[in-house]
Order: sequence, then C-alpha cells, then structure tokens
Amino acid sequence: MKVQRTRSQERILNLLKTLNCAISAQDLYIELRNREQSMGLATVYRSLESLKLEGAVQVRTLANGESLYSSVHSDQHHLTCLNCGESIAIDECPVHQLESELQDSHQFKIYYHTLEFFGLCDRCSTTDATDVVESNNH
Ligand SMILES: [Zn+2]
Ligand SMILES: [Zn+2]
Repeated sequence: MKVQRTRSQERILNLLKTLNCAISAQDLYIELRNREQSMGLATVYRSLESLKLEGAVQVRTLANGESLYSSVHSDQHHLTCLNCGESIAIDECPVHQLESELQDSHQFKIYYHTLEFFGLCDRCSTTDATDVVESNNH
C-alpha cells in the first residue's frame, strides 16, 4: 500500500522521530506549536490515525487510558507503576523472534507489538508496606 502523506503527517512523523520517546496527542500539539509548526488538535489526531494505519506510528495506552504515540522503529517495552504512573524502559524484548515466526505462519504483516508489565515501582511498594505496618499497630 503506497501512501501519500500530507504535510501535517510528515511534520508529526519527523517530530516523533526527533523526540525519540512516546508522547500524547495533546503534548504533540503543544510541541508543534512551540516549533512554530502549529496545527489544529483535530488535525493532529487525524494525522496520527493515518500514520498508525500506515504502520509508521505506534500507540501505547497507559493505565489511565491516555494514548502515547511514538515512531515505530523502537522495539521498547516498559514497566509501568499503577500507583505513581512511572514508566521504566526495559532493554529486552522476549517476543522479537515470535513476531517473525507469526508473520510467516499467518501471512500477517506485523507493524509492531506491545508488551507491558504493570505493578508497583520500588518507591511505591515500599510506601505501601509501611502503611500496612502502621495500620496493624493501631
Ligand atoms: Zn510508583
Ligand atoms: Zn518487543
């Protein structure tokens, strides 16, 4: 599928590549404005949607329902804390091999995959343990 990109789509894709991290549509809108490449929020959403279907952009949904967009080249996974929302990037990808196997066995063009781990970060689980001890004492 050969896609003709609009100027807005090109700008968004370039910005995502420059940022090299996942960003929400709202923040993207602000970033574009800061770089004097202003466009309407609706255009940002529409462009992200097209880029997503093209396989150039990937989406990650946080525990709070917010969607984060990034350019697709990075095969990066995260540990996400349910309490404070901190995202810790991890280096390994255990499904990299599986992806190419599935692509062959199902004749399915895979653009990207997501894999996330949820729980409590070090700081939050420590705080929690303290709370439990305190309430037991009362
Ligand atoms: Zn936390
Ligand atoms: Zn991966």
